[in-house]
Amino acid sequence: MIPYGRQDITEADLAAVRDVLTSDFITQGPAIAGFEEALAGYCGVRHGVAMNSATSALHVAYMALGLGQGDLLWTSPNTFVATSNAALYCGAEVDFVDIDPDTYNMCLDSLEAKLEAAEKAGRLPKVVTPVHFAGQSCDMARLGALRDRYGFAVVEDASHAVGGSYGGAPVGNCAHSDITIFSFHPVKIITTAEGGMAMTNDDELAAKMAMLRTHGITRDPARMRGEGDGPWYYQQTMLGYNYRITDMQAALGRSQLTRLDSYIDARHARRAVYDRELADLPLKLPYQAEYQHSGLHLYPVLVTDAAPVDRATAFARLREMGIGVNVLYIPVYLQPWYQDLGFRPGHCPNAEDYYRRMITIPMYATLGADDQQTVIDRLRDVFGG
Ligand SMILES: *Cc1c(COP(=O)(O)O)cnc(C)c1O
Repeated sequence: MIPYGRQDITEADLAAVRDVLTSDFITQGPAIAGFEEALAGYCGVRHGVAMNSATSALHVAYMALGLGQGDLLWTSPNTFVATSNAALYCGAEVDFVDIDPDTYNMCLDSLEAKLEAAEKAGRLPKVVTPVHFAGQSCDMARLGALRDRYGFAVVEDASHAVGGSYGGAPVGNCAHSDITIFSFHPVKIITTAEGGMAMTNDDELAAKMAMLRTHGITRDPARMRGEGDGPWYYQQTMLGYNYRITDMQAALGRSQLTRLDSYIDARHARRAVYDRELADLPLKLPYQAEYQHSGLHLYPVLVTDAAPVDRATAFARLREMGIGVNVLYIPVYLQPWYQDLGFRPGHCPNAEDYYRRMITIPMYATLGADDQQTVIDRLRDVFGG
C-alpha cells in the first residue's frame, strides 16, 4: 500500500535521539528549549511551548486565553475532532462556521455574517480557531480585522501548515493571531512521533501555557504568591496537566526541522506533477490561494458529478489497488458525540458536500516518482481518461 502520508527518519535523526538517550536528561533537559527556540526562530515569533501533542497544545492555549464555562468557541467543521474537543475540555460551548468551497477553510464571508448575527443576539465567541486545512493558510489579515472589530481571540490550528507561509511570512509568526498550534504526528510535515507546539508573541500567554503543561507549577519566584521557602521551592498556582514532551522527541523534532524547507519544496514538486497529470480527469484539484504558500500536508481531490463512479466506489477500488487513499474530514458536528450536543445534519452544507466528494491521495516528501506514477495510473483507471 502506498500510504497517504509518511514520516522520513534519517541517520541524523537517529543520532540526535541517541545523543539524548545517552545524556543526563531524557526528558525536561536542554533539547526541549533547543527545539522551541529553533522553531520560534524559524517562524519569527517570540515563544514556542512544546507539548506531547497538538491536542494538549490546543487545550492549554484555550485555557491560557481564559476560555471556560459560558464561553463560546467557533471553528471549522473540516478538521480533526481535537480542534473543538479541546474547547469542550474547558467547559466551553462550540459552534462551526461553514467552509469556503474552494479553499476548504472556514469561509470568512460566513464568519462575518455569523458574527453580525451573534452581536445582535449578544452572544459573540470568545475564541475563533481557523484551521489551515491541507496546509493552506486562511486569509489571516481579513480574519485579524474581524478580530479587532469583534474582540475575540484567534488560535490558528496550523497542524497541517508548518513550513507554509502567509503574505510572504511564515505561518506561526502570529501576526494576526494570539497563538498558533503545530502538530508533529508522523503523518504531518515534520514529526516527533507524538508532539505539538504552541507559538505566541505574548510573554504572559507563553508563561501560562508553560505552567499549564506541567501541573500549573512554577519555579520562578516572580510568579509565586508570597515569599519562596528556599532554593528547592516550587509552587502550584493553577490546575495544570502533565502535557510534557520528552527530550528524545524534541531532539528528533529539531533534527527534522533542519529539513523542513526541503520537505515543503518536495511536496510542491509532487503537487505540480499531480496538477499536470490529473488535470483532465473529472476531479476538482486543490486550489491554491495566491496570498499563501501551502505546507501541503494533503492533496485532496473531489469527485465531481461528471465522474463515472461515486466517491465510495472510487475509494474502495483505489484501496484494493494498493493506493492508501483517505477521507478527511467527516464534519466534526456529524460525530455522534456532537449530535448528542444538539447539532444536526445540514448545519454546514458546504462542509457536507465537500465530505461526500473528497478523497486525499498519497502526498509526502519522500513519495518516489514511480510510486507517484502508480497513483496517477490507478486514478486514471478509476476515473477514465
Ligand atoms: C493532527 C491534528 C490535530 C491533533 O494533533 P495531535 O498532535 O495528534 O494531537 C489537531 N488538529 C488538526 C487539524 C490535525 O490535523
